[in-house]
Amino acid sequence: MNLILMGLPGAGKGTQAERIIDAYNIPHISTGDMFRAAMKNETALGLEAKSYMDNGDLVPDSVTNGIVKERLAEDDTAKGFLLDGFPRTIDQAQALEVMLADLGKKIDGIINIDVPTDILVDRLSGRFMCRNCGATYHKVFNPTKVEGTCDRCGAHEFYQREDDKPETVKNRLSVNVEQGAPILDFYTKKGLVHNIDGNRDILEVFKDVQSIIESL
Ligand code: ADP
Ligand code: AMP
Repeated sequence: MNLILMGLPGAGKGTQAERIIDAYNIPHISTGDMFRAAMKNETALGLEAKSYMDNGDLVPDSVTNGIVKERLAEDDTAKGFLLDGFPRTIDQAQALEVMLADLGKKIDGIINIDVPTDILVDRLSGRFMCRNCGATYHKVFNPTKVEGTCDRCGAHEFYQREDDKPETVKNRLSVNVEQGAPILDFYTKKGLVHNIDGNRDILEVFKDVQSIIESL
C-alpha cells in the first residue's frame, strides 16, 4: 500500500502516521523528520535545510526530491510506504510521478487531514516531541499518560521544535496554504484524494484513516 498523508502543519500527520505504521507495518517517510535527523547530525544536507526550516520556508525542490528519490529506492518500500510532508509543491508532485514510474510503483491513495487554521496555531504552539523516538505530544490536547515519560519508548527527555515558535508558525502556515491547494487539485483530478475532518479526537480521526486504508 503506497500512501501519502497530506494536511497543513499541525493537522495531525505525524500523530496519525505513528498509528498507521504500527497497524500496517509500512515505513514512514517524513521529509521533515529526514531534515531534522540531518540537522542533528550536522551533515551538509542538515546545514542547508536548517536555513530554510528556521524561517518556516520550504527547502528547495532539487534537494528535497533528491532525498525522497534515494529513500524510495530502499528495499523496505517493497511492501509499501507512507509519505508524510511530501510532495509540498507541484514540482515535487511531478518529480514523484517520475520517481514512481521509474520504480514501477504508483500511489494507491492520498489521505488529506483537514483542520481550520486557527486551531493549527494552538496545536503547533503546544506541540512537544520525545527526544529519543520522536513521538509527538501536545501539552493540552495529547499529553503523555505519565507526566515526563514517553508513552511509546519510556524515555524522559522532550523538546519543542524550533519552527513551532509563533513567529515561524505564521510563515509556515501561509507558505503551506499557498503551495498545498494546487497539489490537492492535482491529485483530486486523478481521483486519489480522501478527505478527513481532522478537527476531532485523535482516535476518531484514526478510525476514518483505517476505513479509508481498508477500502483501498
Ligand atoms: P503534523 O505532523 O501534521 O504537523 P502533528 O501530528 O505533529 O501534526 O500534530 C500537531 C500537534 O497537534 C501535536 O502537538 C499533536 O499532539 C496535536 N494533535 C494531533 N492530532 C490531534 C487531534 N486530532 N486533536 C488535538 N490535537 C492533535
Ligand atoms: P514538517 O516536519 O513536515 O512540518 O516539516 C518541517 C520543515 O521541513 C518544513 O517547514 C520545511 O522547511 C521542511 N520540509 C519538510 N518537507 C518538505 C518538503 N516536502 N519540501 C520542502 N521543505 C520541506
